[in-house]
Amino acid sequence: MTKGIDIKYVRETYERMADNELIRIATRDAEGLTPEAQQVIKEEIIRRKLDINIMKAVEAQNKTFTLDEIDSYCNLIRNLSCPSCGETSRKLNATLTSQVMSFIIFTHWSKKIKIGCPDCLDKANNNALVTSIFLGWWGLPWGIIRTPIAIGRNIKSKRTNRVDFPNDYLRQYALSRIGQLETYRNNQEQLQLLISSL
Ligand SMILES: [Zn+2]
Repeated sequence: MTKGIDIKYVRETYERMADNELIRIATRDAEGLTPEAQQVIKEEIIRRKLDINIMKAVEAQNKTFTLDEIDSYCNLIRNLSCPSCGETSRKLNATLTSQVMSFIIFTHWSKKIKIGCPDCLDKANNNALVTSIFLGWWGLPWGIIRTPIAIGRNIKSKRTNRVDFPNDYLRQYALSRIGQLETYRNNQEQLQLLISSL
């Protein structure tokens, strides 16, 4: 297949997409796209008169960032209000909660990144800890194997819930959502929506 046909096919594929699907790909799944495919997406955004900041998302996902640059994206999040309690006076951060629940025939293990103020992050880890301690251990064999891991993870995560800089969980989250953060960097409402959906 020649490159010309490839690009024609790529263009037709993007043209057929609904706006929200195109926006999702441009802001979340554009990492690793060829420069030609990136160009097609940009042209399609212009043709549909969508928010031109979405084009920056495509570039952001295909760029390597320094730690300072990642932290500047983190600071966009840190200045929002806590999605759990609405607190606005304290800078937000992120934590990893790990929870194990055993039922009669299976053990459910979940790991989640949560963003919030330090108190809400602690609360999220404590809830996961208590749930795992009471409901995790008795499942065989996974409950017994995974419950101590979950307990250890929550304890480790809690250590950085109150630091006054972006912690590694927040950096990981920012990198995974870099396209959306770039697109909505001046749109407080959209950023707030983004962290509330976690
Ligand atoms: Zn809070």
